[in-house]
Amino acid sequence: MNRRLTAALALPAALALTLTACGGGGSESEPAATGEGGIPLLEEGKLKVCTHLSYQPFQFERDGDVVGFDVDLVDLVAEELGVEQEIVNTPFETITTGAAFNTGECDLAAAGMTITEERAEVIEFSEGYFDANQAVVAKADANIADEAGLAGVPIAAQTGTTGLQYAEENLSDAEIITYEDLPLSLQALQNGDVEAVINDNGVLYDFAKENPDYAVQFDIETGEEYGIAAKKDNTALIDKVNEVVSAAKEDGTYDSIYEEWFGAAPAN
Ligand code: GLN
Repeated sequence: MNRRLTAALALPAALALTLTACGGGGSESEPAATGEGGIPLLEEGKLKVCTHLSYQPFQFERDGDVVGFDVDLVDLVAEELGVEQEIVNTPFETITTGAAFNTGECDLAAAGMTITEERAEVIEFSEGYFDANQAVVAKADANIADEAGLAGVPIAAQTGTTGLQYAEENLSDAEIITYEDLPLSLQALQNGDVEAVINDNGVLYDFAKENPDYAVQFDIETGEEYGIAAKKDNTALIDKVNEVVSAAKEDGTYDSIYEEWFGAAPAN
C-alpha cells in the first residue's frame, strides 16, 4: 500500500497554510491546504476520504487498518497529490446528501457508491470506476430462483442505498426490513431474522465466497456504476481523480488492484 508523504509536498503545502492563515477566518469547509498541482485540500498533507464501513471488499477493517479495492484506488490519487489518505467513517447518507463535504469533513468519498442523477445534483462524481448490479443472497439451499420467489420472504436491505430503492420499487411482495449497514444485514441473515439480503453483487459474492453456507440466488441487472465523489463543483479534485483512474486502467494498475480484491481480472 502506498500511503506515503513525499518531501516534495512540504514547500507548497507550507506556503498554502501561511496564505490561508493570513487570510484569517474562513468557514470550516474552506480548503486550508493544497496538494501537488495546487489542488485545494482540507488539511495539510492529507486526503480526507469519507466512507461507510464496512463494505467488503471495497472498504473494511483488517488488523486495525482500513483496506480494500476503493482504498487502493484512492491511494493512487493521494500519491499523485503527494499526501496521505486518511479514511473517515460516516453514515452513508452524509455522503450521498453532500453533508460530509459541505461541513468540511472530507475531500473525497469512496464507498462503493453508485452514481445516480439525484446524488449528482448535490455532489460531484468522478467517471464510473466500477460496474455493479444488485443481487440476492440467502442460505445455499434456499432455492430462491427469481424475484417471484421472494413473495412473503423477509429480506434485508441497507438504508439509503440503491438496493433498498430497487426493493421498494420492485419487490413489493417481499417483507423488506432495513438495516444501517451491510454487516448488520448479513448478521440478520445469519441470525435467521431475515431469509435473504439484497445488496450490490460485489459485496454479496464476496460474502458467499467466505461463507459457503450461503449463496447468491440470482442477480438483478441494474447497470450501476460506482463513482468517487467530492463537494459539488470541486472539479479540480474530481478531474485529478479521473486522470489517475484512467491512467491506472491504461497501465495495468487498476487490473492488479482488481485481481487482488476479486481474485480475477475484470471481465472486459
Ligand atoms: N452502491 C450502493 C449505493 O450506492 C451501495 C453502496 C454502499 O452501501 N456502500 O447505494
